Amino acid sequence: MIELLVQSTHWQLLLTALAFVALAGVETLFPLSGDRRHRARRWFANAALFLMGFGAVFMASPLILKGAAWVQGALHFPPLTGLGLPAWLLVVVSFLLIDLLAYLSHALFHGAPWLWRLHRAHHSDTVVDASTGVRHHPLESLAGAALQLMVFAVLGVPLLVVLAYGLITTLWQFVTHAEVRLPETIDRALRLVVVTPGMHRVHHSVRMDEGNSNFGMVLSIWDRLFGTYRRRPAAERAGMALGVEGADRAPSLTMLLTDPLRP
Ligand SMILES: [Zn+2]
Repeated sequence: MIELLVQSTHWQLLLTALAFVALAGVETLFPLSGDRRHRARRWFANAALFLMGFGAVFMASPLILKGAAWVQGALHFPPLTGLGLPAWLLVVVSFLLIDLLAYLSHALFHGAPWLWRLHRAHHSDTVVDASTGVRHHPLESLAGAALQLMVFAVLGVPLLVVLAYGLITTLWQFVTHAEVRLPETIDRALRLVVVTPGMHRVHHSVRMDEGNSNFGMVLSIWDRLFGTYRRRPAAERAGMALGVEGADRAPSLTMLLTDPLRP
């Protein structure tokens, strides 16, 4: 299992680099607002946070997997893989469950004050572009990975689907944060099923009534189902105020790392 995780880690790193370069190219060709403020400082901080989080999760993964196996043994939940579902249905159900959990844990990181402190670094970006997709405090990456792997272990979600979902979200997080001008008809049509840049941009609004909406990771259905879907007309989205009210407009890496200590 560890070997599989290591292999998927290599793929994830490669995909992350390729997806970032591709999306940064698209942002240059079709910019939404073309805002380049503090770009070098932001990209450095976002890349550093990503590498620290990635390294932390990688190093902690044997411990997380042990913990997950212990919780699984203690709870004795009937595993999804033991329900006798046809393979295709097992994959579909697992994908839906994983994406639902991503939605719920994102909402939890907004709702619980001590988890919000960990997630706040992600929202503090005042320009949202592809690099924002990987801007997460390392402790948020660790807590998120531990929480999700525990639940997957208890539910008995196949590890291969978990890893495939990880690769898909590696790509999708860059797409949803991309600073691109996508024709509104396309964005609106895609938004019926998946989270789009237009939909996720509203989630990064400085207004927290909008920040506490559009929690979806890949599928947009959960926001519609649970009433957290918010939209803003395309004309308004380019000039929206983004970030966290009262926060530094261009925090250094040290400030971002120590951000959870602030109230
Ligand atoms: Zn968020």
